[in-house]
Amino acid sequence: MADGQINDERHDCVVCGRLYSLQVTYDAEGQMRSCVATSPGVRVLPDPNQPLVTCSVHSGSEVGAALAERFFGPHAHEHDHAHQDEAEG
Ligand SMILES: [Zn+2]
Repeated sequence: MADGQINDERHDCVVCGRLYSLQVTYDAEGQMRSCVATSPGVRVLPDPNQPLVTCSVHSGSEVGAALAERFFGPHAHEHDHAHQDEAEG
């Protein structure tokens, strides 16, 4: 990949899944350098590894909860007692 290459990509809002167009710049190693939304009403989240976007209307707590679910799963907080549930019945 050429240094400074700009890719047109589409990424979904982490909260509601709405698709947005982005221009993502990569360096020669394929690491994301910058990420610019080409649609209005988009907030680009500062993630060093990948383009992450949300609608600008979502609150910070909404975005935080959606990110936790995306990266750790909807039941991440239930791991402690998941095996007890399976034993029932
Ligand atoms: Zn959204």
